[in-house]
Amino acid sequence: METKNRPSIPQLGKFLERDEFIGLNRQTLTLLTRELFEEIRSGKTDASTDNNESVLAQTVLSRLNLLCKDSLVSLINATGIVLHTNLGRSPIEKSILEEMQESIGSYCNLEFDIDTGKRGERYGHLTKKLSFLLGCEDAIVVNNNAAAVFLILNTFATGKETIVSRGELVEIGGSFRIPDVMSASGTILKEIGTTNKTKASDYTAAITPQTAIVMKVHRSNFSVVGFTQEVAFEELIPLAQSNNLIDYYDAGSLNLFDAPYLGNETCAKALFEHSPSLVSFSGDKLLGSVQAGIIAGKKELIDKIKKNQLLRMLRVDKLTMSVLEKTLTRYIQKGPQAIKTHKLLSKTLLEMQIQADSILTRVIHSDKLSVGKTSTYAGGGSLPQHLLESLAIIIEDHPKNAERMIKALRAQGLIARIEKDHVLLDLRSIDDDELSEVATILNTVLEERP
Ligand SMILES: *Cc1c(COP(=O)(O)O)cnc(C)c1O
Repeated sequence: METKNRPSIPQLGKFLERDEFIGLNRQTLTLLTRELFEEIRSGKTDASTDNNESVLAQTVLSRLNLLCKDSLVSLINATGIVLHTNLGRSPIEKSILEEMQESIGSYCNLEFDIDTGKRGERYGHLTKKLSFLLGCEDAIVVNNNAAAVFLILNTFATGKETIVSRGELVEIGGSFRIPDVMSASGTILKEIGTTNKTKASDYTAAITPQTAIVMKVHRSNFSVVGFTQEVAFEELIPLAQSNNLIDYYDAGSLNLFDAPYLGNETCAKALFEHSPSLVSFSGDKLLGSVQAGIIAGKKELIDKIKKNQLLRMLRVDKLTMSVLEKTLTRYIQKGPQAIKTHKLLSKTLLEMQIQADSILTRVIHSDKLSVGKTSTYAGGGSLPQHLLESLAIIIEDHPKNAERMIKALRAQGLIARIEKDHVLLDLRSIDDDELSEVATILNTVLEERP
């Protein structure tokens, strides 16, 4: 047997001088190259004698590219669920991201008062806009709504009781369970009523000198039907305030305005007409912005929250603040139609038919597609009882191919859904500027099929 030719390994320093590596991080290249050379020496990587330096350089470059490839990538949401938590919940208007470069790309006045030249208030930037839109006295923004719940309970009810209806001790999105968050915050949960029925008298009877908060939690992802009763938050406000207690509503997702496509949930303005103590909601649900928790209500209470040391751990960054501010500005200046989430949620069947036509005319094998009515939910713990009508492009194929088809679409960055063994592209969550890409993906995938 012949002894193997020892692969020739280039000298490291000289190898790294190659043209292919110009402009790249020398330290990264050194690490990747050393690793490769070590593999060749130890025989782990097969290196034949014709392994010239250029081939080795290509190997280093392809490993570098693999390492640098974005893990977080853009997808087309054809599930129909506009607020899809796994797909990043609310989309962010492209123009907002562009404007952000201008406002916060360099230094900014995040905690700086330009007038006085002194330290300014991080939370002051959004107060005026939120007060205008919600009709509240004051507001503050934290990391997400889970943080808002935690912070409110921790600020006002540590070691004291918080009254909540048994029918509202919900679990939202896997790891957020109201009873667990309550206990972590240091408050004592006082459950009242039954799963299906809670009356105003249940709240009144539960109040003791230990009570701090009367809390209501929005049933974001389920509904109780049949023999049921609950007390509206509007009713809990006077009940709590006449007993010198704080009324607090974890609204989950709050819409700023009424519209038929939003069902019959109370909008923010209507809620704040009742002067609630505190309300909290997510920034990336119906508000249509970024992950954040908005706490709005009475100024004296917000002031106390600002003094809680834990706020430091839950505070938001300038990126969040900027997206949120620009979203609020769009509501004020142009209205909800300037918010992508609302553009999608409010689309009519006719508008979706036009979208479907626009896709079909661009697809070569459009005979393999049909268009049909379907329905969907807003998602993300919003409007749980409100079914939205929708229109979908259906891929006509043998039912046993559905899984393979949806996987092939996924590989192209298009997330569809399966209904009755057929792959559906639900147009509810597809925006106009994505139509040609959807068509391109369909052409690729339908072409590949046997
Ligand atoms: C969604 C939701 C939360 C959690 O909000 P995040 O912003 O996801 O942290 C809390 N409470 C209710 C009622 C919700 O619907």
